[in-house]
Amino acid sequence: MRSPHVLISGASIAGPALAHWLAAAGWTTTVVERFDALRDTGQNIDVRGAALEVVRWMGLDDAVRGATTGETGTAFVDERGDVVAAFPAGRSDTGGATAEVEILRGELSRLLYEDTRDGTEYVFGDQITGLDDRPDGVAVRFARSPERTFDLVVVAEGLGSRTRALAFPDARTTDLGLYLAYLTIPRTPADDDRWRWYNATRGRQVSLRPDNVGTIRAFLGFLSDVRGLEDLGSHDQAQILRKTFRGAGWATERVLSGLDEPFYFDAVGQARLRRWSSGRVVLLGDAAWCASPLSGMGTSLALVGAYVLAGELTTRDDHREAFARFEATMRPYVDRAQKLPPGTPRLAFPRTRTGVTGLRTALRVAASPVAQRLGGLSGRFFSPPADEIDLPRYRSVITGPRIEA
Ligand SMILES: Cc1cc2nc3c(=O)[nH]c(=O)nc-3n(C[C@H](O)[C@H](O)[C@H](O)COP(=O)(O)OP(=O)(O)OC[C@H]3O[C@@H](n4cnc5c(N)ncnc54)[C@H](O)[C@@H]3O)c2cc1C
Repeated sequence: MRSPHVLISGASIAGPALAHWLAAAGWTTTVVERFDALRDTGQNIDVRGAALEVVRWMGLDDAVRGATTGETGTAFVDERGDVVAAFPAGRSDTGGATAEVEILRGELSRLLYEDTRDGTEYVFGDQITGLDDRPDGVAVRFARSPERTFDLVVVAEGLGSRTRALAFPDARTTDLGLYLAYLTIPRTPADDDRWRWYNATRGRQVSLRPDNVGTIRAFLGFLSDVRGLEDLGSHDQAQILRKTFRGAGWATERVLSGLDEPFYFDAVGQARLRRWSSGRVVLLGDAAWCASPLSGMGTSLALVGAYVLAGELTTRDDHREAFARFEATMRPYVDRAQKLPPGTPRLAFPRTRTGVTGLRTALRVAASPVAQRLGGLSGRFFSPPADEIDLPRYRSVITGPRIEA
């Protein structure tokens, strides 16, 4: 019997992870990516809780742990760079702003791509322009390639997915009123291996994080009531960042000088959809349920979701049943990840001097030995529990091409 052929759109984390599992079960996979090559930008991302288990089952545990950034914890600093409060890296799979496994997004994407490139057809520099969902398959039109028919289409294109609108015309995303710019700047002898996090007034934040390739990953975050800045060109975005962060203190000038090099700028938002599938088309990863970088859960949800979707598809005869089970398993996990701490992002990005002082006082308390002994207050402060999913063992994908629950 012919093996099902699945088209996956998006070659970041969720897409290649799904290709891994489907290929393990003997399915045929094609991944289409809008960019001309694998995107290697992005910063330190967390792999937490159940996602670590999934990585182990993928056989990528050693590779992922061997590529971590070496971040040892998080230090909140003041205008002079003095530490206000410090938190060690999470010792459990879930705790702390710095997770047990921190890896550059581009590195993890590359590992997943290299793991799957032999068993998967990758098409770069193309994208879906039309979907015709028929009883026996989906006819897909592309911007460049000729039309092809697939059994199923998985949209793993991130929060700003365009294909999502073709299958889910009513889908809307929520804007959290926050922008983040991600830069790479030279490392100096004064840098250490902690995530250093600085809040300035007017809802501005500057962060420096170590990486494992000899540079420093910086980000500039700011609250704004103006929408659509992510659609501007990088020249205009750089101007806005220079103006917004002028005189903000600490390492700001150093980070702003990195704006002459390519940087990544995005609006922070969430995707909350009532359903994740329509006919033979299903959403996966941030395209389905983006919880935002503030949750620290985007990559973990993508890895776990890819595993669950593949497990359900290769276990059941009917894709509709598989999609329903995928959603039932993932929905509670996603709901918890999307519940950001109360007041987010405003409390973490205070506008006034009083707000900054209040945040620092709260952080000092949370970092105190007493609070630490009371059970990892720090972990709950930063991110939702990441291991609260009872992962089914899909032997259909873990052990190879067998269809079994
Ligand atoms: C370049 C980049 C940098 C990032 N940096 C960070 C970071 O520093 N910190 C952080 O917390 N999160 C970052 N993220 C988001 C993070 O990767 C996700 O939250 C998480 O890993 C879930 O991944 P995903 O595969 O679902 O979606 P994403 O990682 O968003 O990947 C979506 C993929 O789909 C591709 N794509 C988009 N539209 C189309 C289309 N129409 N057709 C084909 N392909 C399409 C994109 O180019 C991308 O490769 C970044 C994402 C990207 C793409």
